[in-house]
This record gives sequence, structure tokens and C-alpha cells, in this order.
Amino acid sequence: MPEPVVLILGCGAGGVTAAREARRLLPASHRVIVIDRDADASFPPSYPWVVTGERRPESIRRHRAQLARRGIEFVNADVRQIDVANRYVRAESREFRYDYLILALGAQPAMEAIPGLAETAHGLHTLETAERLAATLRYFSGGRVMLAVTGLPFKGPSVPYETAMLLEHHFHSRRMRQKVEIAVYTPEALPLEFLGSENGEAITGLLAHKGIEFHAETTLVSVDPVRREASFAGGALSPFQLLIAVPQLRSPAILREAGLVDETGWVSVSPRSMETAIEDVFAVGDLTYLRLPNGLPLPKAGIFAERQAQTAARHIAFRIKGGAPPPPFETDGRMLIEVGAGAAAVVEGDFSSPQPLALKQPSIVWHMAKLALERYWLWRTY
Ligand SMILES: Cc1cc2nc3c(=O)[nH]c(=O)nc-3n(C[C@H](O)[C@H](O)[C@H](O)COP(=O)(O)OP(=O)(O)OC[C@H]3O[C@@H](n4cnc5c(N)ncnc54)[C@H](O)[C@@H]3O)c2cc1C
Repeated sequence: MPEPVVLILGCGAGGVTAAREARRLLPASHRVIVIDRDADASFPPSYPWVVTGERRPESIRRHRAQLARRGIEFVNADVRQIDVANRYVRAESREFRYDYLILALGAQPAMEAIPGLAETAHGLHTLETAERLAATLRYFSGGRVMLAVTGLPFKGPSVPYETAMLLEHHFHSRRMRQKVEIAVYTPEALPLEFLGSENGEAITGLLAHKGIEFHAETTLVSVDPVRREASFAGGALSPFQLLIAVPQLRSPAILREAGLVDETGWVSVSPRSMETAIEDVFAVGDLTYLRLPNGLPLPKAGIFAERQAQTAARHIAFRIKGGAPPPPFETDGRMLIEVGAGAAAVVEGDFSSPQPLALKQPSIVWHMAKLALERYWLWRTY
């Protein structure tokens, strides 16, 4: 009999956590294989620091091949075909058979959905785009900086607000704050909507205090690369010297081609186990659709991707080895939000709780906690 195989597609926050948890729980005779098209991993919560020059890209980059030291087989290849009927995956020229499959391919930014956006806007949705934005920022001498959320959902619910506040501090440090206007445009009614209106208003207050414009419920429809002007639904126009897009996401094309995406536009999973409608196929992270008890969809965030990944791996181990049934998916955790000037705010607790969680006052302590999280995550994971 060949050794049972747990195959994980994607080695981002969800995939690597699933691989580590499966490896921890399963005997060495079971193979844990993870496939990713990028040989290197990095830590997205640190990308805003890359943009402001507070972090060198190489300090948050790790080689995924290092996972071999932990008994995890890493394959650097592009996944091209998923055939769940025959329990088979093709990645470039290689073929993989699996007993259990975990889909963790993340979500794709839809930059091309808005005319003029891709050729004009910077972004920080990958380490490479964050590095390019950092390089542009070094020569930026002043003007209007527009951060535009191009649609819902987007990656990292605090990203536009954190980035705006870090940039505000960055321009202060360069003694050019008075030469820069910073404006955030978003389709959301309030920042971090899933945390409730009180917390949203607290973030809006922080933005106002720092002189950052906040334009809620705005829909970007096109960008004029020559006039450097953004058009919004309803006809409003706004100029910019530097445009930073926080792009709307959509599910990976390969999953749509494999028929794994349903009417939600995403892969629906059981809230208990993260199993999809197909037996022995699990899904975690940004590509999934789950509704919170407050009716809002689970945000696309690493803290939830990791929790989902642990849940999926534990259910697979339970199915293989038996023992005590694993606990269901839990949505408790901590979200640290940088506010600039060496401080961060925090929300922690159970994000499914009917009572909204309270945003704690920004302090240096939470900023230190974010620094520690970065170091710990990179050390623990690779
Ligand atoms: C700037 C920024 C800051 C953020 N800050 C926070 C934060 O502070 N807290 C928080 O909780 N979340 C944060 N997030 C969100 C968090 O990074 C994501 O929600 C999380 O990474 C999702 O994990 P995932 O495993 O679903 O997808 P990803 O981490 O995106 O991983 C998907 C992987 O699949 C691979 N892949 C895709 N298609 C293929 C293919 N066809 N073949 C092979 N490989 C493929 C990709 O290369 C990638 O490595 C932030 C995101 C950004 C961009």
C-alpha cells in the first residue's frame, strides 16, 4: 500500500499552517506535501513597513524549501489542474495523487476590473508591489496620495487604514507632512465594518485626528492615467499624484475551472471542519466563504486562515487516526492595527461574539506586540 498523502495547494498563511499541523499530528509514514508557485514566503502584515522603509524585504522573506527540515515536502510549481473526481492534481509537468486535499491558494487581486487602474496604481498586496511602492515613495516630493479600496472583499481588513496612518507618520518624519494630502476611499460604510460601528467610528476618529480624509461608500469606476484622476460612481472626480490600490479579490481561476466555486463566488466550507461539499477536500483561507453569526462574511485575514487551517488538519488527522473529535473552528484571536508614531491599537477576543469587541487605545505596547508577532511567526513557521 502506498503511504497516505495529505496534499496542500498553496503555501501562504493557511497552507503552511495546515502543513505544520498535519505533520505534527500524523505519523511519519504519512506524506504531507505542499505545492506553491513561489519558492519564497513572506509575512504580509509587515508589507506596510516595507513601504515606509522600516523593514528590508529580505528580513521578512524565507525559503519554503526549509520546510523539509520539518518533515514537510515542498514542491515549487504552478498548480494547473485539480481533478477531484479522480483525486488527482497536476502542477506543471508533475502529477500528484492524494487521499486528502486542502485548498489554500488564496485569492486573486482584480486590478484589471477597473479601466486604467493596473497601469496607474501601486499596491501592497504582494511583497514585490510593496517594494515598488517603497521605491516610488523615496522620490515622492508631495501632492495628493489616494488609497482606494477598489471593491469588496479585500485582503486584510485593516490594510488601507494602517497604511494611511503609517504613511502620515512617514511624511512627518521626512518633514514634508504639510506638502501631502492623504485620502482613503472605500465602498465600506465604516473602517473594519465587521467589528461594529463603535470600533469603525473609533478608527474614523483616529484618521480625522491625523488629518487623513475618509470617503466612505465610494465606488471607484475608472482611473485616467494621463490626467491622474479617479472617477467614482455618481460622477465625482478626484485628482491624485500617487494612487495606492487595495484591490477587490476574486477566487482563483483554477478553482472556478474545477467547478469548486459556488454561487457565493468562493469555496463554501463546513464551519465545523472546513470540508467542502466534496468528501476529503478541505478549503482554508482567503478562497473560502463562511458567514459570521453577525451575518457578515468572515474577513480575508491571516488570523482566520490559520485557524481554519488548524481545523482542517485536525479533522483529517481525526479521520485517519481516530481518537477524540477535534474542536470546531473558532474565531478568537488578536488583530493588531498600526496607527503610526510607534503605536498600535488592538482588538482581541472572539470575532463571532454577538457583543462587538472593543478596540483598545493605541499604545507602544501593541506596537511591540506586532514586532514580536512578526519575529515569532517567521521563526516558528520556517
Ligand atoms: C499588506 C497586507 C497586510 C495584511 N495584514 C494582515 C494582518 O495584520 N492580520 C491578518 O490577519 N491578515 C493580514 N493580511 C491578510 C493575510 O495576509 C491573508 O488573509 C492571508 O495571507 C490569507 O492566507 P491564504 O493562505 O488564504 O492565502 P495566501 O497567504 O495568499 O497564500 C496563497 C498561496 O497560494 C499560492 N498560489 C496561488 N495560486 C497558485 C497556483 N496556481 N499554483 C501554485 N501556487 C499558487 C500563492 O503563491 C500563495 O503563496 C494582510 C494582507 C496584506 C496584503
